Amino acid sequence: MAWDKYKTSLLEEKSKLEKELSLIATKNPEHPGEWDVKAPDMNPMVSDQSELADMFEELETQTGLEAQLEERLKHVNGALKRIEENKFGKCSVCGKEIEEKRLDANPFAETCMEHME
Ligand SMILES: [Zn+2]
Repeated sequence: MAWDKYKTSLLEEKSKLEKELSLIATKNPEHPGEWDVKAPDMNPMVSDQSELADMFEELETQTGLEAQLEERLKHVNGALKRIEENKFGKCSVCGKEIEEKRLDANPFAETCMEHME
């Protein structure tokens, strides 16, 4: 089976995710593949409690979003690696080929439909 169509969509997804991540995070130079959330501009002159609360809320939202994007990016990179290693499309539990319709819906699926969580 040709994986080219999945590879193309995975690469597109990867660049999209990296672009989104770069808006809210910076690449961790010590841990490739990991990202650190950029702290929002904290103005030390701000004394207004509600403004401070807003800033912390923003940081929390970005941390959550960053974690989601990073997690997704790891799955995408994992799938790309499996394509290179010729392991793509095989269930990590039973080793059978993953259903094509499942891969169409989720190109970085690691298990067949029977073994999906
Ligand atoms: Zn399976």
